[in-house]
Amino acid sequence: MRKKLRLGIMGGTFDPIHYGHLVTAEEALVQFNLDKVVFMPTGVPVRKTHRSVSSAEHRYLMTVIATASNPDFEVSRLEIDRPGPTYTVDTIHALRDLYGTEAELYFITGADAVWDILTWKDSDAIADACAFIAATRPGYDLGRFAEERQRGIRIETMEVPALAISSSDIRARFGERRPVRYLLPESVSAYVEKYALYSPDGAL
Ligand code: NAP
Repeated sequence: MRKKLRLGIMGGTFDPIHYGHLVTAEEALVQFNLDKVVFMPTGVPVRKTHRSVSSAEHRYLMTVIATASNPDFEVSRLEIDRPGPTYTVDTIHALRDLYGTEAELYFITGADAVWDILTWKDSDAIADACAFIAATRPGYDLGRFAEERQRGIRIETMEVPALAISSSDIRARFGERRPVRYLLPESVSAYVEKYALYSPDGAL
């Protein structure tokens, strides 16, 4: 009998991708015995109206650069090529069509984002189609998901100390010319500098 595919989908804005994200994906791969992790840069984030987000193409390319050396990581253009605001429910349904009903799908992202997804109107439909891996930094109140679990939603949680690194802090550091070394891959850092993504004058 053929083994069921166990697929991790790592959803995020990745503006920019950093070592916290990479450690999270690697940890999920091992802890949940996944066959691979597909990074899924968000096309048009639904909630980020308060700040300008780097273009989808820049975020996609930074994700490709950061994951290139890991044979268990892939990057998908599914969300960035889909017009309109990005809803995770559409992505999961598209992946179900692609991989079939047998595949086991695990949507991995930050715990606050899992919360947002589950309070979205189609949460029951999405919860039938995939399990969630909610990544947090230590100290997060994981009891928050008790009610969702009682509703039968499969939510795994994973504490990742490296998530002390955050994209917003890295953007601020670039803007203020403070050090970013050891927070994100040097190749991504060079990409940010090349296109002046977080300079006070704005991205190209
Ligand atoms: P966010 O709200 O900006 O992030 C919340 C927290 O989670 C931040 O601390 C963030 O850190 C962290 N985080 C984000 N992605 C992560 C990842 N893959 N692994 C570990 N930590 C992560 O989240 P977002 O980036 O906008 O959205 C995350 C995912 O949820 C995306 O796939 C998005 O499309 C989806 N989402 C869907 C809906 C919906 O369908 N209604 C609503 C919201 C989000 P950093 O800032 O350092 O990344």
